Amino acid sequence: MSNPYPYAAPVSQTLFDRAAIVTPGGVNSPVRAFRAVGGTPRFMVSGDGPYLTDADGREYVDLVCSWGPMILGHAHPEVIAAVQAAVARGTSFGTPGEGEVALAEEMVARIEPLEQVRLVSSGTEATMSAIRLARGFTGRTKVIKFAGCYHGHVDALLAAAGSGLATFGLPDTPGVTGAQAGDTIVLPYNDLEAVQAAFHAHPGEIACVITEASPGNMGVVPPLPGFNAGLKAACEKNGALYISDEVMTGFRVSKAGWYGIDGVRPDLMTFGKVMGGGFPAAAFGGRADVMAHLAPAGPVYQAGTLSGNPIATAAGLAQLRLLDDAAYAKVDAVSAEIRGLVTQALTEAGVAHRLQTAGNMFSVFFTNREVRDYEDAKRQESFRFTAFFHAMLAEGVYLPPSAFESWFVSTAHDARAIERVATALPKAARAAAQATEAAE
Ligand SMILES: *Cc1c(COP(=O)(O)O)cnc(C)c1O
Repeated sequence: MSNPYPYAAPVSQTLFDRAAIVTPGGVNSPVRAFRAVGGTPRFMVSGDGPYLTDADGREYVDLVCSWGPMILGHAHPEVIAAVQAAVARGTSFGTPGEGEVALAEEMVARIEPLEQVRLVSSGTEATMSAIRLARGFTGRTKVIKFAGCYHGHVDALLAAAGSGLATFGLPDTPGVTGAQAGDTIVLPYNDLEAVQAAFHAHPGEIACVITEASPGNMGVVPPLPGFNAGLKAACEKNGALYISDEVMTGFRVSKAGWYGIDGVRPDLMTFGKVMGGGFPAAAFGGRADVMAHLAPAGPVYQAGTLSGNPIATAAGLAQLRLLDDAAYAKVDAVSAEIRGLVTQALTEAGVAHRLQTAGNMFSVFFTNREVRDYEDAKRQESFRFTAFFHAMLAEGVYLPPSAFESWFVSTAHDARAIERVATALPKAARAAAQATEAAE
């Protein structure tokens, strides 16, 4: 087949060709390159509410929302106004400022176990620092993580991670040494017996268990009832810290993130995405007695030139202040409506699928079996997703370009945007039904 995707994006293609000369693979974060689905990644030039417009002038309903952050839609007027006011006062001072205090106060007020937070600039930094703090606090070295959970590109956490690594099926990554990954114990997700066995095998050595509060980086695979509570109990019993990574779920699935849904009290938590309002702001925090070990209060070093940046904190604070109960009810309703449409279209086309949900996050697995862990996720027929994805794109709906990612919606997805998704779905479902592995 000469051109499997019968719709052109000549300006995006030209930009991608230019990018490939000066940037590895033409992108600054791997999943953006469309390698899992093929075709030309769309270079976006603007966003407005639920829509993105690409360099060729085509408008898409956006079901990625910048991988989660844009929960109010693109270019929300109040967030933009807060950013413009902050920019006019200067962009970085390298001193403390009121914006970072106000953002920390807003976060602490929303999440009861979050007694103190430290602001950083990416989710990766947040998890990296939380692990360092857990090791410094406990004086232990080993870390338990789960296969398919992604915690950013932290060396020690790049063993069996999801997200881009799930997409590419990389077993591991060169550049991470045995020493860096050797203290990481990777266990199957949703398997409490494996956790208990690991604690039994390494008495007094495990500093922490880190888990996605509800995983979204192998597709959406929620914790089974009692799983997070079981992790917390195992940590408590064995003197380890329970770290809940809420970079994706935090301030997205409820006012208090996944903690607001399951109520399991972490020792430490990590945040990013929604809390930055589309800017690089992230955080880690939790128990005050643990956070007291962080410099300059304590001996565990951590720092950042742009941490608590005034523009990023202004954007994050403006976004969080708009996220009241009504906003979450709206996002939940949009999510439920789109999930219903997806299920209907795939069912009518006779496509085996599982739609899995965690709050307002959801994803489709092309399999008829429940997906409880990374092995289950990898058993899906992802070639069907490729056909589905391109059919949706051709109809003006932008999905995550991988079968191993959550879909995200916003308060801005209105009836017109949902109607476009509804119109696109039957065609895409038929394309998924007709897809064959060989055509990939
Ligand atoms: C996105 C994500 C990260 C990494 O955040 P970055 O800002 O991309 O470094 C970490 N953990 C989870 C659960 C994520 O979804």
